[in-house]
Amino acid sequence: MVSQTQNGFVTRNDLNYFLTELKEQEPWLYSYHSKMLQMVSTQIDGAQKSLIQLRKNGYDAKSLKFAKYSKYRTFIYNQSGFKIQDGFLHLSKIGKIKIIQHREIPDNAKIKQVIVTKSKSGKWFACLTIDTSESIMDIPKISFKKAVGIDVGIKNFAYDSNGNQTPNPHNLKKMLKPLKRIQRKVSRQKKGSNNRLKSILKMQKIHEKIANRRKDFQHKLSTQYAKNNDVIFVEKLEKLNMVKNHKLAQSIMDASWGTFIQKLEYKCKLFVEVPAKNTTIDCSRCGNKVPKSLAVRIHRCNLCGLVLDRDHNASINILNKGLNMSAKVGYKIPQELREVTLVEMPRHQRSKKRPSTYLAVVH
Ligand SMILES: [Zn+2]
Repeated sequence: MVSQTQNGFVTRNDLNYFLTELKEQEPWLYSYHSKMLQMVSTQIDGAQKSLIQLRKNGYDAKSLKFAKYSKYRTFIYNQSGFKIQDGFLHLSKIGKIKIIQHREIPDNAKIKQVIVTKSKSGKWFACLTIDTSESIMDIPKISFKKAVGIDVGIKNFAYDSNGNQTPNPHNLKKMLKPLKRIQRKVSRQKKGSNNRLKSILKMQKIHEKIANRRKDFQHKLSTQYAKNNDVIFVEKLEKLNMVKNHKLAQSIMDASWGTFIQKLEYKCKLFVEVPAKNTTIDCSRCGNKVPKSLAVRIHRCNLCGLVLDRDHNASINILNKGLNMSAKVGYKIPQELREVTLVEMPRHQRSKKRPSTYLAVVH
């Protein structure tokens, strides 16, 4: 018996219960690690929860799709059933597999889970989640010297509060042509034919190449930011999700902001997300509201006369919001970032020449 919640979804416990019943009917399931099978319930549960959240946020999220055998490429060993020893990954019920380890596991770390994925072109990867028992509370309240606000967007992939802009990588766009060509070829070929399967593999290799180039680009950029700054501020991504574009090129770009920000988050010393509200509208020098459509690339303030690239203006706002938030929770803001409490300044004192990154508002 599988009961349903009021949302029409099945709970994880029910799924696990259903799984034990299913094992009775399908004994071949016993040849799989039991915890691994239970993790499927956890994954479904997580997907259901995200779906509910999306609907709550006003998205027209339809129901979950059945994961086809050919598209289901990941399984998870959680808490038990795995071991890494002498260059081998041991997985219960599977055996030992030789691995190429890309990074050392820290001595005090405990491996919490292993996610095994087969890439579209057929390569296998194991991704380890480790616990170093260092919580966010253990991180000392660093007195940071270098802080940066980063705005991510369509025109520029990233624009920071120091004025550095990183355009969207063009090498990705170049690869869209061969991708489209092979996609057309696949759609013309007979389903189930050998030639079609060959083309699909070729298509998936191109997909993987695009993904690798995107990852490479994101890693280089995020490493650079993490190396040069103590703290990085970005805005929460909701705003970006609303930018809808059905073009293929755009959908590929769309996917990259989130993963770029994830990389920043784990690489830098301190990472703070600030609310996205008004970051593009507010004047970063005087706080005046300057509404502008997406097409308007330049921020022009008629109150203080600031003229700046719109993304640069936004990134300074992100920096200022971040510094405010950090000061409130007890972080020491360096003197040069703290000196100007702009909001309290009488208008005649506002200097147009003042470097914009110093405009921190600290209460
Ligand atoms: Zn202004």
